[in-house]
Amino acid sequence: MEIVDLVPEVLKNNVMITTIDGLFKWARSNSLWPLTSGLSCCAIEMMCAAAARFDLARFGYEVFRPSPRQADLFIVAGTLTWKMAPPLKRLYEQMPEPKYVIAMGSCANAGGPFADAYSVVPGIDKIIPVDVFIPGCPPRPEALIYGMLQLKEKIRHPEIVQRTAK
Ligand code: SF4
Repeated sequence: MEIVDLVPEVLKNNVMITTIDGLFKWARSNSLWPLTSGLSCCAIEMMCAAAARFDLARFGYEVFRPSPRQADLFIVAGTLTWKMAPPLKRLYEQMPEPKYVIAMGSCANAGGPFADAYSVVPGIDKIIPVDVFIPGCPPRPEALIYGMLQLKEKIRHPEIVQRTAK
């Protein structure tokens, strides 16, 4: 028997029943607060996603934070150099749990056009764990929005991700 079967018929259109875990996942996935790391050109597209034309606020994700302590999503947009890697890792470690990471653009994913350069990290997953990779050089704002919606699904249904990862 499902828990919903215990609700009297007269209340079914007025009462919502869920688990605390489900409520937390719903709340987290609908109100991600991003900490941005605009390292180079991809950052312009990230800024456009929050501006009027693409209006990231429609999804509840517009509260960009300047402090890692107030953020639960780290968007890394651009080319990461080895010199910049320790501060980036420190910012990630200063974020409270649960926290998520989006790698935006080819440079963040795998070094992009600078992958062979001695100074460039060939993918931020060498430094911090990444939840969603967004391809492109640069990805358009729609791609970032799509990536955030994919992250939303991942937060709501972690069991699907664990299953496909096996
Ligand atoms: S992926 Fe392309 S647009 Fe983005 S930071 Fe690298 S070179 Fe610039």
